[in-house]
Amino acid sequence: MPQYTLNIAHLYGDLMNTYGDYGNIIALRYYAEQIDVTVKTTVISLDNTFKSADFDFVLFGGGQDYEQTIVAKDLKSKAAELQHYIENDGTLLAICGGFQLLGSHMIMADGQRVDGIGALDLYTINMHDSQVKVAKDARLTGNIVIKNNQTGEVYHGFENHQGRTFIGDQELALGTVISGNGNNGMDNHEGIIHRNVFGSYFHGPILTRNGNLAKRILATSLSQKYPDINWEDNLKQLPTESF
Ligand code: GLN
Repeated sequence: MPQYTLNIAHLYGDLMNTYGDYGNIIALRYYAEQIDVTVKTTVISLDNTFKSADFDFVLFGGGQDYEQTIVAKDLKSKAAELQHYIENDGTLLAICGGFQLLGSHMIMADGQRVDGIGALDLYTINMHDSQVKVAKDARLTGNIVIKNNQTGEVYHGFENHQGRTFIGDQELALGTVISGNGNNGMDNHEGIIHRNVFGSYFHGPILTRNGNLAKRILATSLSQKYPDINWEDNLKQLPTESF
């Protein structure tokens, strides 16, 4: 019997799961089981309480504007606990719509403003904004490749978003765009890394296509919980998959 457990919260897994973002959990489980770690997943959705101490990893997937308006209202009740989780170095992966809602606010395609929880220094605008100079009315859709400037790792994905996201000067991007659009199609940033939060527009899902990132995120989560074990070394021995 494995003696280690990774407790995962799938935030709004029933509403925010564009292009099978749940596959990110499957990818983590795939590597975790090979190193005798059991993965337990709980969907935390509308009206459920999120307790940061209960979880070692949080997935907040993508969703369309309509779902985001519903989620944004509920998210207010979870904001303080999520902030606490993030500032205590909890590991979290936020994709597309989830990534947008961790910022201060977003302007939807219909011009409506929706507040995020402001945990990360980022905001999202839409085609109505004068800051959007390129491809004004187009969605940013297609294959995308980025390079992580800290590790040199290259990540592949698929993006499909209307929102244009801008991260603050003090925030680090997940990577620099090699091909595709990224956060806004203008500044060559894709995603964000803030403490142990990884934000990205990549579907695919990002962790099934990029085993290097899956291992890095899994090692980060497990090291927070079981700091006496060298999880990075344990995971290095496994083949890195790209499905
Ligand atoms: N509704 C958001 C946008 O279009 C997010 C889309 C998504 O999560 N795929 O920008």
